[in-house]
Amino acid sequence: MPEGVLREAAIDTSAITANVRQLRRLTDSEIIAVVKAEGYGHGAVRSAAAALAGGASRVGVADIAEALHLRRGGIDAPILAWLHAPGASFAEAAAQRLELGISSFDQLQAAASVAAPGRPVVVHLKVDTGLGRNGIAPADYGIVFAEAARLERIGKIEVVGLFSHLSNTSADDDRVALSRFTVATAAAAAQGLAPRVRHIAASHAALSLPESRLGCVRLGISIYGLSPFQDRTSADMGLRPAMTLHAPVAAVRRVPAGQGVSYGYTHRTAAESTLALIPIGYADGVPRNASGAGAVRIGARTYPVAGRIAMDQFVLDVGDDPVSVGDEAVLFGDPTIGDPPVEAWADAAGTINYEIVTRIGPRVPRREVRG
Ligand SMILES: *Cc1c(COP(=O)(O)O)cnc(C)c1O
Repeated sequence: MPEGVLREAAIDTSAITANVRQLRRLTDSEIIAVVKAEGYGHGAVRSAAAALAGGASRVGVADIAEALHLRRGGIDAPILAWLHAPGASFAEAAAQRLELGISSFDQLQAAASVAAPGRPVVVHLKVDTGLGRNGIAPADYGIVFAEAARLERIGKIEVVGLFSHLSNTSADDDRVALSRFTVATAAAAAQGLAPRVRHIAASHAALSLPESRLGCVRLGISIYGLSPFQDRTSADMGLRPAMTLHAPVAAVRRVPAGQGVSYGYTHRTAAESTLALIPIGYADGVPRNASGAGAVRIGARTYPVAGRIAMDQFVLDVGDDPVSVGDEAVLFGDPTIGDPPVEAWADAAGTINYEIVTRIGPRVPRREVRG
């Protein structure tokens, strides 16, 4: 890692590009690359650009502020945003040619109200098929689809898409949701709507339930090279993790047997030993729940965190290994080259890989690399 850096996430944008190419092969579908939450911690603009270079045809984010950030960052491709503040105005979104996920009659009206003459607002109607979040409820299909068709006829909106989101509870539960989506599709057609794209699958379903692909899938975690499955690694699917989180050893200290380590002395050295200080902590998104458990590689060896993870730092007990100040300590990266997988941290903290990468904090500089 570069000299003088205290902690860093290296982001391999060529891995994102290659992952999107591989996901196009695996799913044989159009890809909406999901870069919400700053690209799951990888950086939204660079992730979007890398995914588009790999053949993604659209970018997806949760909210309009995220979409506007991408436009300002030079992303010119279609951008879809689907989670809106109550009473939000869509004026700036329309001016910036954003595509809006529409979950209610009110949102439909708000979208139509900001159309410029000759330039309908592009919408994807979102239906609820069981997840119980947003999306048009089945009881409202008739009234909302009829209004959407009317607004389309008078040039206020263009209904480009129809979509929903799955629960990943089981293949059977997802098939039930798919059959509800078929009902929604028919209800939309009955009102005269013919959306060009329909999409319901995120990474999990796109990679495990072929009938959910519908020719277009919204992929987040997998484009970053991480697996949405407990029992399949990214390498199993030909994907490469794009983020490597690392820090230099900031201090080493030789201590006697029985020395307590970090707050609460929850770790004590078993024998005379070397302690190595790693300058990254829970303020940076390293989960405190992984105290005593998270895995860190230095050289050819991997060590569990010794004692508590603090706000800015934690300690490794490296025994008699020759660890020196400045040595690279890798918290997670590409396991096929020996780095701990991010899933080791997720398991240690009782969470999922999504949360670990997404919560890497603003104090950790991202450095773009091309591997
Ligand atoms: C986050 C999100 C996705 C992407 O999910 P992954 O599991 O990361 O692929 C797709 N669609 C919606 C609506 C989402 O909120």
